[in-house]
Amino acid sequence: MFNNMQELKDYCVDNDIKVIDFKVIDLAGRWHHLTIPAARFTEKTLEDGIGFDGSSYGFLTIEKSDMVFIPDLSSAFVDPFNEVPLLTMIGNIYAIGDKVERFEGDPRYVAEKAERYMKETGIADKAKFGPEFEFYILDHISYKSLPNHMEVYLDAEQAEWNMGNKDRKNLGFKVGRHKGYHVDIPYDVNFNLRNNMVLMLEENGVPVKYHHTEVGGPGQLEIELSFGGLLEMADRTMLTKYILKNEAIRNGKTVTFMPKPIFGEAGNGMHVHFQLFKDDEPIFYDAKGYSGLSQTALYAIGGILKHAPALMAFTNPSTNSYKRLIPGYEAPVSICYATANRSSVIRIPGYAKKPDTKRFEFRPSDATSNPYLAFSALMMAMLDGIRHRIDPVEEGFGPYDVNIFELPEEEKAKIKGLPRSLEEAADALEKDHDFLLEGGVFCEGIIQNQLKAIRRDASRVTIMPNPIEFEMYFDL
Ligand code: GLN
Ligand code: MG
Ligand code: MG
Ligand code: MG
Repeated sequence: MFNNMQELKDYCVDNDIKVIDFKVIDLAGRWHHLTIPAARFTEKTLEDGIGFDGSSYGFLTIEKSDMVFIPDLSSAFVDPFNEVPLLTMIGNIYAIGDKVERFEGDPRYVAEKAERYMKETGIADKAKFGPEFEFYILDHISYKSLPNHMEVYLDAEQAEWNMGNKDRKNLGFKVGRHKGYHVDIPYDVNFNLRNNMVLMLEENGVPVKYHHTEVGGPGQLEIELSFGGLLEMADRTMLTKYILKNEAIRNGKTVTFMPKPIFGEAGNGMHVHFQLFKDDEPIFYDAKGYSGLSQTALYAIGGILKHAPALMAFTNPSTNSYKRLIPGYEAPVSICYATANRSSVIRIPGYAKKPDTKRFEFRPSDATSNPYLAFSALMMAMLDGIRHRIDPVEEGFGPYDVNIFELPEEEKAKIKGLPRSLEEAADALEKDHDFLLEGGVFCEGIIQNQLKAIRRDASRVTIMPNPIEFEMYFDL
């Protein structure tokens, strides 16, 4: 929003802004914040930065846990959720050694480096990413009401009861299970709220392609964003989740992007569409290629599919991610590509036929990922595929434009499945991460921090008695 401090100062005076808020991202993809009176924000703040303890952010390089962040003026937006006018901006993280320098493991820096590396390879000079956000709007769930909270996991009807439907006077227009896709009002009970959310996104520089109700009934919704650059789209992903969560809370509701919040109902994915351009020409298009894709696009697909298990450690980094990736819910389960098949990792949308709309979609990812790291990892896999000519046909990844579940057993056995758990994804990343280190985009430290974080989560779930164990074993 601003190019320099003077522009920012003028804006604050003209708009009576007295408070400045800074957002800094942690390894898991959460924004933390720190606030100062506008008068204290000076050129010196931009030179020296603001100190914080990086180890509390999951950046476990203990010897370098003293860090500073320096606000990025261009990322400023007026926060719509506070009583006093508040200007908010994102901070870039710097490490303090002999000198202050960009922290290699700052997710935002990784995204910057991924875009820079894409250009350095000469393969493309512009990337466009288009994420789709699926989420549920629920009535507020309090951690204090743990027994009710647990029931939400167990059974969709019970969940509906917990969501407050017991108080609904008119049950005549009730959305059935799995019946939520594109339902009109009055079934679309969150329409007003969703419209407000989308208008807020648009006002804050996040263009929306469209939005609708999703299959998971009742309460699952989807917002697709218009395409943008890698770093730009990671910033927009953070802002989208921020606006959705806060606007819901303001209306007494809760938004969750958790991949599988309700047993037996559709999970929440964050599919991502990709396009690459060179000199403004789309390099993924070839009228004669499979499904209108160029050989470059196919190599990019080959790279993603070859590295898919390792990628999951960044694109699906929660234990709950793997409860979504099961057959029967339009979530991907097979490491293959196809034009129509929704159980494949890569889908080529059949309706995007023109050169400038030609694209493919990565379906596994979910919004528990850190978008900077997830998008960067996907970019690195595409570039690796293109650089090393990883042909998805030769690698046996398809295309599978058939119902995979109806294939003969020996054909089916050839198709690899996605990792079944976070532990498996962690093991895959440990074995296969050289492609992420190319061009210095990811560093060994961030890989190790991520492995440590996801293995810690996985072991917490392993040792925790699970509600379903009470059903299976309590009375034995
Ligand atoms: N909810 C499904 C998933 O988990 C996707 C449904 C769809 O968009 N067709 O990925
Ligand atoms: Mg969609
Ligand atoms: Mg969808
Ligand atoms: Mg999709």
